[in-house]
This record gives sequence, C-alpha cells and structure tokens, in this order.
Amino acid sequence: MNDKIKNGLQISVSGIRGIYPDFLTSEIVFNFGIVFGSYIRTKKVFVCSDTRTSGKSLKDSIITGLLCTGKDVVDLGIAPTPEMGCVIEKEEMTRAAGIVITASHNPQEYNGIKFFSEKGTFLNTEEMKRMLDVYYKRAFTISKEPGFLSFMEYTDKYFSNIYRTVDVERIRAKKFNVVVDVCQGVGAIFTEKFLKGLGCDVVLLNKEPPGIFAHNPEPLPENLVELSETVIKEKADIGFAQDPDCDRLAIVSEDGNIPGEEMVIVLATRDILEYHKKGGIVVNLSTTALIEEITRALCVSVHRTKIGEVNVVEKMKETGSVIGGEGNGGVIFPDVHYGRDSFVGMALILEYLAYREKCLSEIIDEMPKYFMIKKKISISDRQKVEEILKNIREKVSGSEKVNLEDGIKIIRTDGWVHIRPSGTEPVIRIYVEGKNKNVAERYLSEFISLLSG
Ligand code: MG
Repeated sequence: MNDKIKNGLQISVSGIRGIYPDFLTSEIVFNFGIVFGSYIRTKKVFVCSDTRTSGKSLKDSIITGLLCTGKDVVDLGIAPTPEMGCVIEKEEMTRAAGIVITASHNPQEYNGIKFFSEKGTFLNTEEMKRMLDVYYKRAFTISKEPGFLSFMEYTDKYFSNIYRTVDVERIRAKKFNVVVDVCQGVGAIFTEKFLKGLGCDVVLLNKEPPGIFAHNPEPLPENLVELSETVIKEKADIGFAQDPDCDRLAIVSEDGNIPGEEMVIVLATRDILEYHKKGGIVVNLSTTALIEEITRALCVSVHRTKIGEVNVVEKMKETGSVIGGEGNGGVIFPDVHYGRDSFVGMALILEYLAYREKCLSEIIDEMPKYFMIKKKISISDRQKVEEILKNIREKVSGSEKVNLEDGIKIIRTDGWVHIRPSGTEPVIRIYVEGKNKNVAERYLSEFISLLSG
C-alpha cells in the first residue's frame, strides 16, 4: 500500500474508512478479505453492505478474498449493521464471524469495512491489532480449496428478535404516527416494515434513490430540519432519523423540537429501568451527564468507558449491565444482541411513550436540563493532533478534575469538556456539556482557543 493511500484510510476499532475509489480501492478491500479470512478461526463468515453505490462491488471484493482463504461466505445482501451482530449472536455464536461494507454516518463519497468476531461484536483493539499485523506482514493464507458462497435473508428473524423483547401489543394499541428520515440508507428498505410491525403509521423521508444521500447522513440536529418540519406537518407523535447502516438514531419530538441523539440513550435507559428491570448501565465518556441524573434515584451503577461500541459492549458483559450505549444515538440492549441498534432504539422509545401515555415533549420537559455542543475541528497534519492534545493536557493537569482514559475529559461542577482525536476521520472532536447554553458556549470557546493556540 503506498503512503498516499495509507494516509487516506482511517483505521480504528470501528474498522476501516476511506473515500472510494481514491483511497479505499477494490484491491484493498479484496486484500482485507484475505487478511480477515487468514486471521479469523471460524469456517463461516457472514457479509452484507449498506446502500452506498460502491457497496455491491466492494462486497464482491471482500467475498472473493474470503473465499480464497477457504471460508464459506453467507451473503445477507443489503442489511443493517446491527442485523450482523444479531445473526452471529443468535444463530451462530462462536461458529461464524462477519464483515459489513459500510462507512456508517460518513458522507456519500466514503465507504468502509466493519469487522465482527465470532462473538457477534466488533473486533476490539487487541483483535484489530492482531488482524492488522496479518495485513502489514502480508501473512496471508490462500487455501487450495476455495470456500462456498451462499445467500440468506435474515431481516424478518432479526426484527422478530426485537419484537419479542418489548410490549408489542401496548405499542400497537397506540397506533403511533411516525416520520423517519432514512437518508437513502438501509432504513429506506426495511424501516417501514419494522414500524408497521409495531402498528405505526409511517411516513418515510429520503427513501429514493438508495445510496444517494439527500443530505449529510450523520444524524446531527443540523441535518434534521426537514424531519422536524415534516413531523409538524404530519402531526406525528415522533420523528426518527437513522444513519445509513442503522446503528445510530436521533429523534424529533411531536412539537418539532430536536432534542437530538443524546436523548435516545436517556429515553431507552428510562424504559428499561422503569418498565423492564433494574441493573447497571454502561455509556462512553462523551455521553450526557443526564444518565447519572436519571439513574441516581434508582440506585443503579453507571460505568463509563472509552469511545467505541466494542469498549461499551465489553464493559456491559463484564458488569452484567442491563442497557448501555453511546450518546451519539447508539442503544445497546443485550436481550436482543450486544451492539448499537437503531431499530432497538425505536422500539424501546415507542414502548416508553406507550407506557407513559404522555407526549415526548412533556417527558423531556420533566427531566433536568443539559445543553451539549459537539464540534469537529479539521486538522490537516495528523502529527499536529498529538502536539495540540499534549499542550492541553499540560495546561489542565493539576488544576482541574481530569480523566485521561480517552483523550482529555475535564469535569467541572456545572459541566464537562471532552477533547479527543476521532478514530474515523482526520479531525479533533470537542464535546462540551453544561447545565445551560451559556456554560456550554463558554467552555467551547475557552477550549477552542486552546486548540488553535
Ligand atoms: Mg452507523
């Protein structure tokens, strides 16, 4: 791999991302098929892709690589990332691994690869490192006997696994009116069916043409304006937005307000703790402090981890937690499977609305107020990122309450600031949360000036 391509690929625990075909080429994807096939011990590997137009050819490249190593490949077609976790965990635990061709919430021009181990979860840092060793040392194994390719549909069974964990009758009885912005992603194919199974009337936004995104597909408030307007126009009970591979979810309340993706894990957690079972919760360091607020009275423990789904999942397993996730709209409910899942998120939130018999804006209003700002700062020179972080560490250490597990998190009495390099893009992420907008904005400008200075 030449240096230009190496620099254009982002490699992290979330997998591999790059612009197609400038950096993420068919050849690289084929090579990762061989690498993963050489690394993973299972005989069977499931493969699927999101709706991106480069998805079909890249999926064929990865399949060819896997077959070369003697793996039997099961092609699930276009499918949500969480379906991959579910099919491995529920049907083939320890007997199959998986690969999803997706760049998740990244813009249109990107594609990528997510790797699932035989546990049905993403490769963790250590596993990813061992697989990349195979890649860089070119320690591939080509089999004399190529593997066998078959095809399978699993989405209906995946949805059944979700339905059986919630009170479907209670949700159906409410006949919720729901608008979903699927942003031409995998949700464009499956979400209407899923919600009709819960008795909802469904309006889909941005359904066609698959893979050509009408807007930046990251479910951030600035990308949800059309959803908000449509929720009001349709007199809907709630609006949802899914990212293109359907692991992240954002919401809009019935009055058009955009509480944003942080509220997703908060509402899902309340549903589980108030109506399912009490137990521990795991969220990452960047998730809203509202989680501690809503769980305090219930006397359950909250664990915080480094960013990255697999870090949250491993902590959930270790602590036997009943729910977990990431503030970026990722809900993990182990009764379905150990992975972020926007369909699970929708089901739990609709269930909570059904049980509470209140509208979403009222439920949100009754909770303490927090204001969060999420910024990305592009850094052209990657080496500069470490230098900037080192300077900030020196400035805050000693005088502030600081957590250095993942980047730098500064915790103050009325809010917090979390600064870290992104694993998937050449940017520094700065998240601030305060008890009101002024506090959050003050913290943001204070630390942005440190970043640029
Ligand atoms: Mg995603």
